[in-house]
Amino acid sequence: MAWRIVIAGGGFGGFYAARALERLLKANSAEVTLVNEANFMLYTPLLPGAAGATLDPRHVVVPLRSQLQHTDLVIGEVTGGDPAHCTLGVKRIDGEQIELVYDQLVVALGSVSRTLPIPGLAEHATGLKSLSDATALRNRVLTCMDIAESLKDPAKRAEYLGFVFVGAGYAGVEGLAELQDFAAQAIELYPRCRAEGMRWALVEAKDRIMQEVPKGLSEFAARELRTRGISVRTETTVKEITERDATLSDGERIPARTVVWTAGVKPSPAVGKLGLLLDRSGRVMVDRTMRVEGFQHVWAIGDCAAVPDPARQGQACPPTAQHAIRQGRLVARNVAAALGNGRMRRFRYRTKGVVAELGHNKAVALTLGVRWRGLPAWFIARTYHLLLMPGMGRKLRLLVDWNVALLFGRDTSAPGRLGSPTPLQEGDDLDG
Ligand SMILES: Cc1cc2nc3c(=O)[nH]c(=O)nc-3n(C[C@H](O)[C@H](O)[C@H](O)COP(=O)(O)OP(=O)(O)OC[C@H]3O[C@@H](n4cnc5c(N)ncnc54)[C@H](O)[C@@H]3O)c2cc1C
Repeated sequence: MAWRIVIAGGGFGGFYAARALERLLKANSAEVTLVNEANFMLYTPLLPGAAGATLDPRHVVVPLRSQLQHTDLVIGEVTGGDPAHCTLGVKRIDGEQIELVYDQLVVALGSVSRTLPIPGLAEHATGLKSLSDATALRNRVLTCMDIAESLKDPAKRAEYLGFVFVGAGYAGVEGLAELQDFAAQAIELYPRCRAEGMRWALVEAKDRIMQEVPKGLSEFAARELRTRGISVRTETTVKEITERDATLSDGERIPARTVVWTAGVKPSPAVGKLGLLLDRSGRVMVDRTMRVEGFQHVWAIGDCAAVPDPARQGQACPPTAQHAIRQGRLVARNVAAALGNGRMRRFRYRTKGVVAELGHNKAVALTLGVRWRGLPAWFIARTYHLLLMPGMGRKLRLLVDWNVALLFGRDTSAPGRLGSPTPLQEGDDLDG
């Protein structure tokens, strides 16, 4: 009988694990099943590009079926599990609750935005974690300008032209930079808004933005944002958010109807329902082979797992795509080894570089210890994503989108209801 391997989550970790398993195990020796909420893998580092309209939202995802030839895909939500009996509960897309039985399980459920008990946060702020977040943000910028353009009261107009990002990691800095770049182009089409001007602020609790890059590059990124008129507020937090403004810890009140929360992540809620041992931050406890403590046949990787970081004694790996990809590939080898193919290895990867786009054809990058900034870093960032994006068709889509945006500017249409059909009217009376 073929071994049954189930992968829960089809993001960076799960997708690369499935791809590697397809290569490592003969199709008739193992049945690999991948459970994911959607039929695509979201390429999150390009999400700011979708929000900032340099990329079509559909081009920042990888359709799982077209990339995985021998993996059985179950679209649905992981609802719980019993590792002692080797079962995983899944609510399939059609609503049916099923139970998958496995010999080996890989948990790769990723993370969700980590929120804090700040008044008004849940009601008035939005995240930048999903494709719908990115599309909604882009549409929101345009809707705010459309409303502001029709208002006579400058104070009210300022609310619609105020944008605050809270949290200055990858998602916050890249998201704000791309969206501001997009808005700066779009505002040329709104004379009244142009006269008023926009206000953009980036709020960060720590003493510098982008803790992921060395201090020099982080300072370059902050300077770059400031020269565009963006207010970068370090060692500052948000105290309260209302429909119309955000109040900072230093007492300043910024009129803004758009507040984007990008201040950290926590494991997906389903991780807590799998009966596995979790650390204080809710991540699954694993050893250096990524095997879950207490269970020989369960593994965990990516943002939802506390994989010991080879680069920092006593700490877990940071929640990045580059770690999740390497963990996905390695866990596949270790699962194969547990089934008698090859030998078990420890996770040894140390960050080799980082790239972060800043809009305006600028970026910061660190590659094998060499620091890059400005246009060369931007070129490296785009080349890196182009190489990493799976599939020739997907790579070409990126290239075309980027070049069209370079030549003709970003697309400023706001197809807000894309994907929601227009309801049909009541039937007309045929006699009438
Ligand atoms: C805007 C943004 C920009 C980023 N930029 C970078 C960058 O430049 N470089 C970098 O290294 N990292 C970056 N990251 C971080 C990176 O995206 C994550 O570290 C990476 O995606 C983690 O991979 P993962 O497989 O653990 O989780 P994910 O890629 O999030 O995959 C988890 C999968 O599990 C699915 N899932 C979750 N819960 C369930 C459930 N109950 N049932 C079924 N399926 C479920 C999700 O739908 C998803 O497909 C960025 C993140 C964001 C949000």
